[in-house]
Amino acid sequence: MRVREASCSCGQLRIEVRGEPLGIGICHCLACQRRTGSVFAALASFAAPYKVTGTATEYVRVGDQGARFIFRFCPVCGTTVFHTEEGHDESVGVAIGAFADPGFPAPEVSIYDCRRHSWVQLPPGTQAYQKDPT
Ligand SMILES: [Zn+2]
Ligand SMILES: [Zn+2]
Repeated sequence: MRVREASCSCGQLRIEVRGEPLGIGICHCLACQRRTGSVFAALASFAAPYKVTGTATEYVRVGDQGARFIFRFCPVCGTTVFHTEEGHDESVGVAIGAFADPGFPAPEVSIYDCRRHSWVQLPPGTQAYQKDPT
């Protein structure tokens, strides 16, 4: 089974995930733009179990549909590495950039397309949603 490791930029916070992603998506919502400092977030979800090493600080954000997302970021360098949704411990969302792997598969879905910067072009075949379809 394929094992991948994502890490923050200073390297103290790491997560090891197994198997292929359950889903890969990008999110253009303004909260993700602020959270990442980038113009969209790129996330891949993986099934539990996963292994975390290092110290994480938690930040809880309530989504538009009331879900509570618990983001874990490195208290030293500030990188957001992964998040879980409260009550859904069966999977984890990992920031794709934290894998530092340009060969990582492309996103399948694009959400909050209504907030997409006009110069951001989606890869061919990406399913785009105006908001979050879930
Ligand atoms: Zn760090
Ligand atoms: Zn978002």
